[in-house]
Amino acid sequence: MLTQCNACGGVYQTEQNGQEYYHVCPPLSAVELAAAVDAGAVTLPDDPATGKPETPAAAVMRRSYERSNKRDERPAKGAGILRDGDGATPIVDATPIAAPVTVDMSKLKGGVTPSPVATTPNA
Ligand SMILES: [Zn+2]
Repeated sequence: MLTQCNACGGVYQTEQNGQEYYHVCPPLSAVELAAAVDAGAVTLPDDPATGKPETPAAAVMRRSYERSNKRDERPAKGAGILRDGDGATPIVDATPIAAPVTVDMSKLKGGVTPSPVATTPNA
């Protein structure tokens, strides 16, 4: 069944290739962390390289920022799942995913690589 996580917005099949899939929310991306910083939900420490607050891109490379409403569907000992978080919503009218689509990565200019960490030299 196609399902959307209410915490991270991830969309996934609960069964893949005949096996159950247990969704676990990923840590915040740099973009999500930047939004959390802007909202005052988290303060980044000073970057030892610059003496200024870390950029979100540098921060997510150094540590993991978990969402407070994180969902973890892996089975808990006994019954249920490890963490419900904000729950998940079945997508009932979705078209089933028929087959994977292969993307020719050689056609992408420069491929897909993580953005370099922005650094500012000490003034
Ligand atoms: Zn999630």
